Amino acid sequence: MFSYEKLLLENKAWAAEKIAEDPNYFKRLSQIQTPEFLWIGCSDSRVPANEITGTQPGEIFVHRNVANLVINTDVNLLSVLDFAVNHLKVKHVIVCGHYGCGGIKAATTKTDFKYVLNMWLRGIKDVYRIHRRELDEIKDEEQKCDRLVELNVQEQLQNLAKTSIIQRAWKQEQRPDLHGWVYGLKDGLIKPVLEMKAGTPIDPLYEYDGL
Ligand SMILES: [Zn+2]
Repeated sequence: MFSYEKLLLENKAWAAEKIAEDPNYFKRLSQIQTPEFLWIGCSDSRVPANEITGTQPGEIFVHRNVANLVINTDVNLLSVLDFAVNHLKVKHVIVCGHYGCGGIKAATTKTDFKYVLNMWLRGIKDVYRIHRRELDEIKDEEQKCDRLVELNVQEQLQNLAKTSIIQRAWKQEQRPDLHGWVYGLKDGLIKPVLEMKAGTPIDPLYEYDGL
């Protein structure tokens, strides 16, 4: 059997199990989607949003990319954000990084990852530059990367607050709250590192009029 065939087989078993527990499970899920949370996480296969938060399908709207970045020209992420905030009306947006993140580690090296990856990792190098003084003080490489993971999450939360999507929702509907979390691959625990309640003041340079 090919490895991907096993996935399809497991899927059949999973679906049967769900129906055995609750015959209306899929019917109910297919009719309505009202998640309270948008999750922006890392693509890393070891950080599955539902599993580590004990949530079910339908509870979290998910976007994932390498090192959970919020880039202001990323049409993919902004479309997800727009839909989650303006149509699903989520109450919370969570940016969840994780210790031991390969994307973060890669960005601290001088390795040329070629074309597109260099472009993507640049966003992380910029976070390093902003916090260079603090990070250069940390001599242990692993600790330095872990701190960069935390600072990166904080920076991405700021990037969310800089979008007119978030600012408009904050002004008109006093939601969503923004949460910056870091997941530990070694202990499975999530550590909150920053929270920005709806309406938190940001640098006026990034504020929009007339929302
Ligand atoms: Zn990662």
